[in-house]
Amino acid sequence: MSQSGPRKRANRKQQIITNRLEVVASRLRELFGVPERKRRLPDPLDLLVATILSQNTNDINSHKAYVNLKSRYPDFMDLAAARPRDVERLIKVGGIANKKSKTIVAVVAEIRKKFAGFERRKLRRENRDALIDSLTELNGVGYKTASCVALFALGDDDAFPVDTHVHRVLNRLGIVCQKTPDKTYLAVRDSIPKGKGYEIHLNLIKFGRKICTAQKPSCFECVLFDVCDWKEKKLQAEKKAPTADDNKIEFMLLEEV
Ligand code: SF4
Repeated sequence: MSQSGPRKRANRKQQIITNRLEVVASRLRELFGVPERKRRLPDPLDLLVATILSQNTNDINSHKAYVNLKSRYPDFMDLAAARPRDVERLIKVGGIANKKSKTIVAVVAEIRKKFAGFERRKLRRENRDALIDSLTELNGVGYKTASCVALFALGDDDAFPVDTHVHRVLNRLGIVCQKTPDKTYLAVRDSIPKGKGYEIHLNLIKFGRKICTAQKPSCFECVLFDVCDWKEKKLQAEKKAPTADDNKIEFMLLEEV
């Protein structure tokens, strides 16, 4: 049966995004290589809590907060019965601890009720988008956190979390035209080149931290210059200013969980 007009147009649009992401993936692969997964996947609940801890702070401080919390609660399911005040004390170094502690305790309590065990084996049986959508129903869990669970803890190479770096770069390139990371995620999630979610996600974050930084992107040395739609790129390229926004950060928290 032939496809209807709107369906056809949607498929064509998805294919265009996929093609452009293939180009980005191949250029960034030349620049950074293919990121390797760790042999052992992190526990889904550990990863989810680590992602909440990573919000609005740098990787070093959120990692310290994670280690503090883990040393007191080796099994994060026990956080369901914790007092937010105790959690807040442990994660203070990661910032906005008052809010994060309440979110973590409430999210773990809900997970305990709704997802019996939150085991990788069971979570993997679910449809990716349905699982991500149901996780976002938990108060304090957005698309980024939910898709990080799928990508990092379930080993789903078609999942594609969109954080602030990924959002900024994809919009500057003109692959999408969206106002928020969540909207960018929804615009690209069905167009990720098969099995490339992990590679593209990690390489885009690296690229966003080192080259296409928020304040002073290094357009003059950018491997994506010719495929970038950002209207200020030529002006920016003339500045030839070296950038160092996040160059100090040597590791990514979610790979360390
Ligand atoms: S040309 Fe500039 S704005 Fe475009 S992707 Fe490269 S660094 Fe980013």
